[in-house]
Amino acid sequence: MAAGRAAELGASVLLLEKMEKPLRKLRISGKGRGNITNTKPIHEFLQKIYPDGSFLRPAFSLFFNTHLVQFLHKTGVRTVEERGGRVFPASQRAWDVAEALLQWARRMGVELLCHAPVTAVTHGSDGLFSVMFEHNTAKRVAHGKQLLLATGGLAYPATGSTGDGYGFAKKLGHSITPLRPSLTPIEVDGLAKFAFKDLPLRNVKLTATAAGKTIGEELGELTLTGFGISGPIALRMSRSIVDALQVQREVALQLDWKPALSKVQLQNRLERELLQSDIRHTGDLLRKLMPAPAIPFFAERAGLQVRAKVCENAKEKIVETLKCCTLRAFGYRPFSEAIITAGGVSVDEVDENTMQSKRVAGLYFAGELLDVDASTGGYNLQIAFSTGWLAGSKMAGGR
Ligand SMILES: Cc1cc2nc3c(=O)[nH]c(=O)nc-3n(C[C@H](O)[C@H](O)[C@H](O)COP(=O)(O)OP(=O)(O)OC[C@H]3O[C@@H](n4cnc5c(N)ncnc54)[C@H](O)[C@@H]3O)c2cc1C
Repeated sequence: MAAGRAAELGASVLLLEKMEKPLRKLRISGKGRGNITNTKPIHEFLQKIYPDGSFLRPAFSLFFNTHLVQFLHKTGVRTVEERGGRVFPASQRAWDVAEALLQWARRMGVELLCHAPVTAVTHGSDGLFSVMFEHNTAKRVAHGKQLLLATGGLAYPATGSTGDGYGFAKKLGHSITPLRPSLTPIEVDGLAKFAFKDLPLRNVKLTATAAGKTIGEELGELTLTGFGISGPIALRMSRSIVDALQVQREVALQLDWKPALSKVQLQNRLERELLQSDIRHTGDLLRKLMPAPAIPFFAERAGLQVRAKVCENAKEKIVETLKCCTLRAFGYRPFSEAIITAGGVSVDEVDENTMQSKRVAGLYFAGELLDVDASTGGYNLQIAFSTGWLAGSKMAGGR
């Protein structure tokens, strides 16, 4: 986006891409469907961004969700809006967005070299940047008055984003805030023996507590896995859980399996089930309340025998555990499984009106490399597109 925009405004642009083709992460985003942005208004959008969305206000003012959609329409990509304001390409193929972007950048005159990993960058006393890179096994150097680093974060390194830009930025005098995986699955005690193969639990509520304080609460779908929890609500809560696990050994989780029902309503529901069918065993009653593979796990948490006859005490335990099933989070999955990197190039050292470094004239940043990250819903790609557009515009001297 930055390269294409700068070239569109007349700059001479060389784009160096480490992999065999650019935009690998965009191509797999949104499970291959590419949740490219969200239609939320700017003030709500900024609330989804950490640690401080206000840094992005100028970038969003210049190029926001509606601009992106219009831009894509012009390049031949139609879009559709889904639940929660999430926007996807109408073809449901993130690949089409990547190809459209690439063709546009080429049409604008960007010179693209693939298989060209940058190995080092320096800034000379003459104000010129020197970029060392490899291409076709040869070592080469490119020089330029301006340099944009948009090497992404550390998540899903197989896409080419291996965090190289943090080292380059540091070498050029920038501070990097602590890097952590985010939107990442959470490891939970005692789940391994149930060997869940991704069991989705719909319409549940998860609450996370650390040091006696609620650090997150979400309603929606949760997936039980062989190591812990994943799925939309676990991923959305992972940022605060990961941060809490940096300073303490565990985070308490409370799973409410039936958030729409009170204990009394649940008690009545159990009585109705028992009256209407010839349920005799606890396991049969649980089958009315949850997917079958979840039963052994639930029964263990509730201290119940699935083959035992249903008694008053069992009903009480079921209601208690449905409303508050306690779990212990002790870890999180690494960058290779995370969707995003929290932390990055400190935004205190970057001018939010231009994306230019406050430390090195002519050095720019865009995308996940910066210390801004967001929840799921299309926000992270919009951050990349908007900061790229702003940086490209300013590098070319445009508005
Ligand atoms: C599985 C998955 C699904 C996702 N789904 C969504 C989604 O649906 N919606 C959403 O908003 N966000 C999603 N994200 C997040 C989003 O894709 C990223 O935030 C976004 O791609 C960041 O863009 P970027 O240009 O900053 O970095 P990247 O997309 O990571 O691109 C960085 C580029 O720099 C190249 N590079 C790195 N180092 C070098 C080097 N030394 N030399 C040359 N080139 C180099 C890489 O090869 C790569 O092409 C998803 C992420 C993942 C992992």
